[in-house]
Amino acid sequence: MRIAETVTFGGSGLDRAAALRADSGKLDALFPQGRVLPVWRGKPLILQGESLGWVTSGSPVLAFGKAPIFLGLDDGVAVFAQDVSAWAPETGAAAVEQGFMDSSVQTHPSLPADMAFMELRAVMAALSPRDAELAATAKAVLQWHASHGFCSACGAASEMVEGGWQRRCPTCGTAHFPRTDPVVIMLITKGNSVLVGRNSNWPEGMYSLLAGFIEPGETLEAAVRREVMEEAGVPVGAVRYLASQPWPFPASLMFGCAGEALDDRLAIDRTELEDACWITREEMVSVMAGRHPRIKPARRGAIAHFLIANWLADRLD
Ligand SMILES: [Zn+2]
Repeated sequence: MRIAETVTFGGSGLDRAAALRADSGKLDALFPQGRVLPVWRGKPLILQGESLGWVTSGSPVLAFGKAPIFLGLDDGVAVFAQDVSAWAPETGAAAVEQGFMDSSVQTHPSLPADMAFMELRAVMAALSPRDAELAATAKAVLQWHASHGFCSACGAASEMVEGGWQRRCPTCGTAHFPRTDPVVIMLITKGNSVLVGRNSNWPEGMYSLLAGFIEPGETLEAAVRREVMEEAGVPVGAVRYLASQPWPFPASLMFGCAGEALDDRLAIDRTELEDACWITREEMVSVMAGRHPRIKPARRGAIAHFLIANWLADRLD
């Protein structure tokens, strides 16, 4: 797909400057002159709802921060991210991690009023490609550190090294690397119709493309066929890769694929899906425009929305 990398969180060509990661002295020297993105309980600091909220290394918002991770060089300026989850705001915190998406925002008393910690899914489509790549990277790596504090080989507490791009076990010496979990998400078509489904915990009326984790030993194509058969009972023939999207909720890499259904009869697994159905191209135009009486579209910025919009526009080549 020629426009694959224009998807939200598509690569912006960030210089990750990986050669600097091992030089902790150099990173320590760059930190005071660089920019820092604070991330609070998975929510990056956002400026005016549309760009990242950068602070300098001396900012009071970083007072509760863990060790910074090095994101790279953005136009030559060193950029870092810091987990400031230990900060306890007076209001709003209770809403975090509840439901499909946390719509609350938290402002910090030391920051301007137009900066707030916000759920990334709420602002992802408004961010520039560079800001989106930095936010996705920061969120994914910081969440990995927060949930991988102990060595999986021996159980000892591990230590952050390499500017945040590794954890090392001081007891047994094992090196651990940030994980990325591959997921297939598929535009399954039969003639003029596309297969969509919904999970019961999604916002009311929202339907999206089917998706699932790739299992060890599977190709992308096999995972697409297995997931569609398991969830909807539909056999799939030819499968092709279209586009990928880093999806840091918490650590996925989405592989967008197209597949041709061999049969349009559905046998829905109700433990996996609340519902699934075929939608014609004409109906999907009205879904995407928000005019459909029953079905709401996938969230803008998600690869499902991107694939469906480009299927409608005949831009999957
Ligand atoms: Zn160990």
